[in-house]
Amino acid sequence: MSAPNYALIEAGGTKFVLGAGSGPDAIRATARVPTTTPDETIPAMLDWLSGHGPFDAIGLATFGPVGIDRASPDWGHILATPKPHWQGADLAGALAGAFDCPIGLDTDVNAAALAEWRWGAGQGQRSVVYLTVGTGIGGGAVIDGRTLQGIGHPEMGHMRVPRHPEDLGFAGSCPFHGDCLEGLASGTAIRARTGAALSDLPADHPAHRIVAWTLAQAVVTLQSVLEPGRIVIGGGVSHTPGLVERIGQGAADLGAGYFRGDPRAIVCLPGLGDRAGLLGALALAQAADTVALT
Ligand code: ZN
Repeated sequence: MSAPNYALIEAGGTKFVLGAGSGPDAIRATARVPTTTPDETIPAMLDWLSGHGPFDAIGLATFGPVGIDRASPDWGHILATPKPHWQGADLAGALAGAFDCPIGLDTDVNAAALAEWRWGAGQGQRSVVYLTVGTGIGGGAVIDGRTLQGIGHPEMGHMRVPRHPEDLGFAGSCPFHGDCLEGLASGTAIRARTGAALSDLPADHPAHRIVAWTLAQAVVTLQSVLEPGRIVIGGGVSHTPGLVERIGQGAADLGAGYFRGDPRAIVCLPGLGDRAGLLGALALAQAADTVALT
């Protein structure tokens, strides 16, 4: 039996990363398409993929919110996003119209959690959370090999967190909730507060302390719900030197030793680095490839 051929799509807010291959060490081609409008980006995606098929399955790891219920007419559609032009965009429909193969679809962060669980920092753990802290904040989780889904997908970026005592004057940047987690600790929120990226602020700037403390609140909340073996922090803000360590220490202080997991050990950077997204799409394609499973 020849190796399968999977189409891999990491659909992000600024770019779509595309790939074709059969396994984590066998991705033979990749490409990037800017996320402009659906009318431009989707045909460009289909055009590149068409040159690398036929496929046994497609893995689509996409920014959200996105419909994930296969029984619903909005499956594979982008839902209520503040991103201009993309609300209602039918990603899965475009792929289904162009390729005759199964489609595995999930959020980018659920997919990244799956990839980290299978090949990265979460190997051997029963449950893994992946939190991306970038322009926005999103979170996904894997429990016993399955991504966490309900009537929709998790929206961890919009959890409520207590305000840092030094940070009460900032209204928050979330267009829906103001001072939810994303509204307080995303790159957008940091820039609105300080005029700069966290990594560009001097080491003694209070934003380092406030952002880490806010994310530590989210870590403690995630521990209280899931007791995950790893909470992987990805996204652009995660590259700030010392941030992950400050989050782990902050969560250890807040949790007061109550939880089984020590945040100084379970909060970590992605084991797969920037490949977590595309490998997440690979994991979705593999799961969708029912021929390979039988
Ligand atoms: Zn929000």
